[in-house]
Amino acid sequence: MLEALAAGLFGLLIGSFLNVCIFRLPRDLSVVAPRSFCPGCEKTVSWYDNIPLLSYFLLGRRCRYCREPIPWRYPAVELITGLLFFWCVYSKGWNVWGLKLCVLAAIMVDLIFTDLEERILPDEFTLGGAAAGVALAAFAPPSSNLSIFFLPAQWPAWIHGVFEALFGALVSAGLLWVVGAVYQHVRGREGLGLGDVKMLLTIGAFLGLPAALLAIFASSMFGAIAGMAYIWFSKEEFTYELPFGTFLGLAAVVGGLFGDQILGWWLG
Ligand SMILES: [Zn+2]
Repeated sequence: MLEALAAGLFGLLIGSFLNVCIFRLPRDLSVVAPRSFCPGCEKTVSWYDNIPLLSYFLLGRRCRYCREPIPWRYPAVELITGLLFFWCVYSKGWNVWGLKLCVLAAIMVDLIFTDLEERILPDEFTLGGAAAGVALAAFAPPSSNLSIFFLPAQWPAWIHGVFEALFGALVSAGLLWVVGAVYQHVRGREGLGLGDVKMLLTIGAFLGLPAALLAIFASSMFGAIAGMAYIWFSKEEFTYELPFGTFLGLAAVVGGLFGDQILGWWLG
C-alpha cells in the first residue's frame, strides 16, 4: 500500500511532465528547454507555482501574472496519471510488471490528450512507446502465449517475450493499416491516420495480439457511438473528425490496467 502511494505521488510528477509534452510535442517544441512557461504571457512558471495538482487550486485556476485561466486539462492529467500509477502498483506490485503498466498508462494518457486537442499522435510516444514495449517484454511479456506456435519451446523466455510483443505490434498495426487503406479506397477519403497505426504498434507490443485486436474493436464501437451521438445532437451532416487515437487509448487503458478485474467479474 505504501509503495502504491509512492507510485501515485510519482505519477503526479509524471503527469506534470506529460502536460508539457501534450502542449509542446504537437508544436514541435523541445520538452526540456525552456522551463515551463505560461502560454498567455510567456512568463516562466516558478517551482512553487508548478506543484502538481496543488498549484492549480492555490493559484485560483489562473496564471499568477496575466490572470489567464489555466486549462482544466493540467490538473486532470496530473490526477489521472497519479491514480493510474497508484492502481498499477497496487494491482501488480512493486516490480517490473507494475512498472510496465505505469509506462503504458503514461504513454496512453499523453496520446489520449494530444489526439483530443490537436489530432496529433507524436512519434516520440507512438514509436518510442512501441520500442519501450518490446524492450519491457523481455522481462514482463504480454500474456498472449502465441510464440509457442512459432518458436522452439526450449528457447529462452526473454526471446519468447520479445517475439510476443513484436508479433502483437506488427500484426495488429498491419491489420489496422489494411482496414484504413480499404476504407480510403471505398470512400475516397482518409478515415485513419498513420498515427493511429503507429499507436497500435505500442498497444500490441505492450498487451499482445488478442488484447490489441480487442482494443481496435472497442475503440471502433466507442467511435461509432460518439459519431451517432454527434449527428443526433447537432442535427448536422457528420464532418467532425473523430479522435480515434483517444478512443484507442481509452480502450488500451481499460483493457491493459483493468482487464483482469473485468474478466474476473464477468466470469463471476
Ligand atoms: Zn500568464
